[in-house]
Amino acid sequence: MGMNIAIDGPAGAGKSTIAKMIAKKMEFIYVDTGAMYRAMALFLLRCRVDPQNAEQIGEMCEQADITIRYENGEQIVLLNGENVNGLIRTQEVSNMASVSSAHPKVRAKLVRLQQELAARESVVMDGRDIGTCVLPDADVKVYLTASAAVRAKRRYDELMAKGVGCSLSEIEAEIEERDRRDMTREISPLRQAEDAVLIDSSDMSAQEAAEAVIALCNAQAL
Ligand code: C5P
Repeated sequence: MGMNIAIDGPAGAGKSTIAKMIAKKMEFIYVDTGAMYRAMALFLLRCRVDPQNAEQIGEMCEQADITIRYENGEQIVLLNGENVNGLIRTQEVSNMASVSSAHPKVRAKLVRLQQELAARESVVMDGRDIGTCVLPDADVKVYLTASAAVRAKRRYDELMAKGVGCSLSEIEAEIEERDRRDMTREISPLRQAEDAVLIDSSDMSAQEAAEAVIALCNAQAL
């Protein structure tokens, strides 16, 4: 029997960094569910769908075939067969993903794909609704958070390192807006599952946070 680890939390809490470290150490597959919502958002942007038009989003999302595959341990997201990994990290896609992910048809389609993956393999899956909705029976559930200021600063440093000029206050405002949308939507809002362990990484390194989750997995396996 495999083991499934669910990591949820707001944008910029360090979920993907930590999940990747855990996946490597435990030899599990890392499933980045945000990348799937981003690929769907890219598709909707390309179709010039109006983000306010829920009916149009519901209709168009049926035409997006989203699958994932792994190359050298890295998750590749395919949108209608095209590798879109290099196209889904823009601000425009982030904002569209946070709007379109509130749509029931978008969620139903991607949640099914996520559940199929977890049924086949041992996974570390990160997102917003993994512990509450996608994998309610996950062996270990973590709600990873950090203060909005720390999360914005991490994103800012990441972008600066890539040579992308940006404003810290704009990033903080954008992160807060995304969290507000993710936490207040009707379907599968971001919240801590009752049986999830809260980890606040504001004053922790990624290494320390990953070790805390691995300790939970080891305790579970005893
Ligand atoms: O985690 P990431 O920032 O890549 O996610 C992009 C957006 O996708 C989030 O703001 C959220 O609206 C949506 N998402 C979601 N459920 C998940 C993962 C991501 O609604 N499990």
